[in-house]
Amino acid sequence: MPKPPANPYDLSRLDLDDILGTINEEVRARFGEGEVADYIPALADVPKDRFGMALVLLDGTVHEVGDSRERFSIQSVSKVHTLTMALEAVGDELWKRVDREPSGDPFNSLIQLELEHGIPRNPFMNAGALVCTDVILSHYDDAEASLLEFMRARAGDPDIAMDPELAGSERESGHRNVAMANFLRSFDNLNNDVDEVLDLYFLQCSLGMHCVDLARSVQYLADDGRCGPSGERVTSAENATRINAMMMTAGTYDAAGDFAFYVGLPAKSGVSGGIVAVVPNVMGLCVWYPGLDEKGNSKLGKYALHRFSRMTDLAVF
Ligand code: GLN
Repeated sequence: MPKPPANPYDLSRLDLDDILGTINEEVRARFGEGEVADYIPALADVPKDRFGMALVLLDGTVHEVGDSRERFSIQSVSKVHTLTMALEAVGDELWKRVDREPSGDPFNSLIQLELEHGIPRNPFMNAGALVCTDVILSHYDDAEASLLEFMRARAGDPDIAMDPELAGSERESGHRNVAMANFLRSFDNLNNDVDEVLDLYFLQCSLGMHCVDLARSVQYLADDGRCGPSGERVTSAENATRINAMMMTAGTYDAAGDFAFYVGLPAKSGVSGGIVAVVPNVMGLCVWYPGLDEKGNSKLGKYALHRFSRMTDLAVF
């Protein structure tokens, strides 16, 4: 009888700490690669000698390596969480205002928005994320406090905070986001004051979290919408499935195809070098390395996820 193939979801076959140790060594040998996102003043001088990685299994077990407890501004990783909040607020009505197709264009592109009458391609492009932020502003009396509370509960970390100084510095230089928000308003696809939407958007990008926080914060996407730290149902199992699908097709900007090719896990990146990923039914993950590739994804973070998916055989394909 031929031996049955190993069950990929049986983690007892893997030494996860050993795997993380190997990845950590490989990444550290390549420190310095990539460019930091200097279009955001506060990110311009972040050193490229930091790497952290964390896995949080569904039972709450944490495996981590490197600078996994150093906080950084989560930038576009926040778009996963604000999408979830927006879906909870208005349900499928959201899809009248944002599409769910990959774009093939950079995250801050304005081109499709004009051609497609103010409907952003997906909630992970800046334009789509601005619509989600607008929904949150309309839905909550104190949207900023609700967003902060949501993040703290998802990560099980009451110390998570926004960084108004960082948000302010991006507000000063974020002309393209300002243009985009005004453009959306001109199509009646923002209901709140443009400045209020932008202020909250920059604050959500400035949330300071570390790899363990972030890996925990996406655990609900691995667990059918149930949050590990709080035990709450965050969203329906159906929405969790859909958000994972969008992370796979659009979570890493116009490199989502390449991510599926090399990593094969739903993932969402941010320009500060963080990337969260999900192994459905198994774990939430996060990697962080500040040097970015030409598409704006963490260069060695992507490499680390590639190595992880291949060493564990946990890619969804
Ligand atoms: N705050 C950044 C911006 O809006 C977030 C972009 C990103 O991380 N891709 O430009």
